[in-house]
Amino acid sequence: MFSASQNIPLTRRLVGYYLMFVLAGLLTCLAAAIWLAMRGELLDLSAMVLILPVVFIGGGAIALHRTVRVNASIEEQLHRVNAGGDDLATALTTLPDSAPLTLGWNRVVQQVQNRISEDALNSKLGNFVEAFNQQLWEAIVSSLPEGVVASNRCGNVIRANRSAVALLGANAETELVGRDFIALLERRLPMASPQLWDDLRQGSGTLIRELQLGADAAAGVWRLTRTPLLGEPSSAGSNVWILRDITQQRLAEDARQRFVATATHELRTPLANIKAYAETLALNRDVPVQEQMNFYNVISSEATRLARFVDDLLNVNQMETGAINIVPSEVDIERLLSEITEHVTPQVKEKQLRLETKLPKKYPKLRADKDKLSAALVNLIGNAIKYTPEGGWVRLTVEADDARMQFIVEDNGIGIAAEELPNLCQKFFRSGDERVRQINGSGLGLAFTQEVAKLHGGALSVSSELNKGSQFALNLPLA
Ligand code: ADP
Repeated sequence: MFSASQNIPLTRRLVGYYLMFVLAGLLTCLAAAIWLAMRGELLDLSAMVLILPVVFIGGGAIALHRTVRVNASIEEQLHRVNAGGDDLATALTTLPDSAPLTLGWNRVVQQVQNRISEDALNSKLGNFVEAFNQQLWEAIVSSLPEGVVASNRCGNVIRANRSAVALLGANAETELVGRDFIALLERRLPMASPQLWDDLRQGSGTLIRELQLGADAAAGVWRLTRTPLLGEPSSAGSNVWILRDITQQRLAEDARQRFVATATHELRTPLANIKAYAETLALNRDVPVQEQMNFYNVISSEATRLARFVDDLLNVNQMETGAINIVPSEVDIERLLSEITEHVTPQVKEKQLRLETKLPKKYPKLRADKDKLSAALVNLIGNAIKYTPEGGWVRLTVEADDARMQFIVEDNGIGIAAEELPNLCQKFFRSGDERVRQINGSGLGLAFTQEVAKLHGGALSVSSELNKGSQFALNLPLA
């Protein structure tokens, strides 16, 4: 710290003292001259002797004052720098003089100020880059398809990206911030077990859980990952939660498992039969002819079953790759329906079913892919026959108006449980009903039929009641 006198620059103080002495000298000379003049002793010469030093001292003092003014100003600025009140840029200023010292000082000040403005520019640039990086990072996080949520040690949301906002059913991040994250999840997953919430609330460290939004995977499946938020010590107990919608993945996995189960059954059973009957025929020369015929028939029908399954697989594969397309032409509906009924008559007879038809007298023109439409209708009628116990009935109704044609296939068979209806058209889906398990099927027929309807710009709808019967309607536009 400086005292008040220390605040006055040293150079200026010295000049001050010097001037005081000079002034005192001058006053003394003046007093002597006056005193001599009053006594009449002041001679011209002595006056000169007195006045000349006065003039020199005065002139010298003025020159000295001018010279040290620069030093004083520099010293004053350095004091200001030392006191630390102002920053360097304002504490140091250039001086107007052109003395060598002034020019040197001005260069120093200039360089310092240049450096300071360079630093300021760099720091502005740094801030800008940091802000840009921050914005870029925010943009990256908010573009992620996964929901990302950060929660504090109390479990309340600190930040949530756009996907998390959507997955949690909110409109904006602000609706989530400050709210209990697990409670927000609970609201979206009413069917989850209390054990899950306990697991998520308790403990720390990485945790991965799969969460099902509804009764089955089709309602939605999320994979939730919890990881501790690393970084500053203040983040202890905070977590990052990642929510990934894996519904499609899960459905694909379910379909794959169903495929493996169905393919195993659908390939192994006919192959085993073909092998068994072929071996019997090959090894036993004395099998009666009638029995041989029966064996050949079994081999032939099992081979047909295999071929149909492979065809269905190929069709479904084409659907998946988008390679399936339709070749529309005007369809003779009457002829198509009579071909189909002829095709299914043996099965109808075998199960002693009643096949009813309710057909219009006149059909409007329908442009469609005849083969695919025929295969779709055979699927629907074939299912009605398969899943209707002996003695039941199957009805085919065709309705048409100016805009559409509807093929309705009804039966009074085993029906379908309400919770299974949404899954019927998934590939390889087969009902869990024990009665269905005992009937051959690939679970591909309805997936194919629905795809055919879509390719024609139409739709397949279903209604059914367990143990009462089912109704499938294939709706096609006429235009
Ligand atoms: P599948 O080869 O098993 O018949 P589909 O795709 O044609 O395959 O049908 C899928 C499932 O839908 C069937 O396994 C069955 O559970 C159910 N289903 C289809 N049609 C009927 C029907 N008319 N009555 C009862 N269940 C049916």
